[in-house]
Amino acid sequence: MKNHWVREHFAAGQAIFQEGDIGQDAYLIEHGKVRITSRRGDEDRLLATINPGDMFGEIALIDKMTRTASAIADEDVTLIRISRDLVVSKLKNADPLLSHILQIIVDRYREALGASKKSEESSPEDGLHRLREYAVNQIQIAQNLSDALANGEFELHYQPVVYLEDGRLGGFEALIRWNQPKLGFVSPLGFIGVAEDSGLIVPIGRWVLKTALSALTQFQAAMDHSHPGQSALFMSINVSARQLQEFGEIDELASLIRNSGIDPARIKLEVTESALIEHPETAVLALRQLKELGVLLAIDDFGTGYSSLSYLSMFPLDTLKIDQSFVFTLQENEGSRRITRAIAGLARDLGMNCIAEGIENSGDIAILREMDCEFGQGYHFSKPLPHASVLKYIEARGAGQTGH
Ligand code: C2E
Ligand code: CA
Ligand code: CA
Repeated sequence: MKNHWVREHFAAGQAIFQEGDIGQDAYLIEHGKVRITSRRGDEDRLLATINPGDMFGEIALIDKMTRTASAIADEDVTLIRISRDLVVSKLKNADPLLSHILQIIVDRYREALGASKKSEESSPEDGLHRLREYAVNQIQIAQNLSDALANGEFELHYQPVVYLEDGRLGGFEALIRWNQPKLGFVSPLGFIGVAEDSGLIVPIGRWVLKTALSALTQFQAAMDHSHPGQSALFMSINVSARQLQEFGEIDELASLIRNSGIDPARIKLEVTESALIEHPETAVLALRQLKELGVLLAIDDFGTGYSSLSYLSMFPLDTLKIDQSFVFTLQENEGSRRITRAIAGLARDLGMNCIAEGIENSGDIAILREMDCEFGQGYHFSKPLPHASVLKYIEARGAGQTGH
């Protein structure tokens, strides 16, 4: 059982582990003494003799690292073996802030270990200083993040998604914005990771879904008012891996969707490719459960996550979202064009549609249209807009406006 600590006995002289072994356990001494030795040429040098209550081999809790020393029972010993998996699972269930701070310290330790190996040429001071700054920044974000929802510091902006064929408005993608009184504007790239690590993404994600769905109702009303007879708008909402894994969370999201009264076929949930690959089994179950409601599912940042094609068929997907990195370089890079064409073709062959995001100029549109990519999104059409600006944007668009 890896996910539990176990008590182990070693007789005097017996090796607990040897230098060079790959380790993933740390040991806590309950009874007896342990010798830590390191090989120098032909002889074993004694580094330390350690006592009950001491721990050794703890670097393995951070990474599956090669043991840098041997541990030998100096007399009959009783040890408590602690596996890396156990520590990770305990951390996941700990208080989010505590768990986050611990993870930062562990990351710092890990990077410091990596840094010290190369420390001869570069200044270790600088590396450590940067690590410290980074850790402090992350802790500040984590601390402030836990109050942000209650204080109403989040806002959603909405970026239009258009039909490339004729520039008609298809829908919007909801993108979160955080205005923190002390830290100022914090980009989602700077805090979504922290929110995921700490588990706060779960309540934040619920708020995003609820807010975006209520906005969709208002945008649709504005659309019906200014341009009656146009097809219904959709709303794309980003869902993080952590939300899919959290027990019971899909039921929560499902009831938010049902209570919104919106036709689920107008709700598109975006999950990144990497989120699907990391825990495919739970992701498949979660996405199937969501699909049963009738929502649309999209893979975000497609082409960057190295998923195998056989995975794709496991998931009940409707849309592939071509990553911006390919779209940005569409005009000058033949490789990007090939990849984009292949993704658009793959989407078509699997009965899905595709969205190209990061369209910054009109030159991209012709290329993407020719590849039969249905939807486009990017600064060329519009940056993400605050709620009130969306209402003006809808009103200002002539019915059937091409937007090109
Ligand atoms: P994403 O889902 O891939 O969102 C697209 C990002 O590209 C957005 O950045 C958008 O503002 C930006 N973008 C769109 N068009 C262009 C363009 O033409 N040029 C350039 N340079 N950028 C463009 P943003 O809003 O900063 O969001 C960054 C990431 O944060 C998102 O990437 C998504 O992964 C995450 N995120 C944002 N909102 C949420 C949310 O509500 N929940 C979750 N879980 N993640 C979110
Ligand atoms: Ca997205
Ligand atoms: Ca994306």
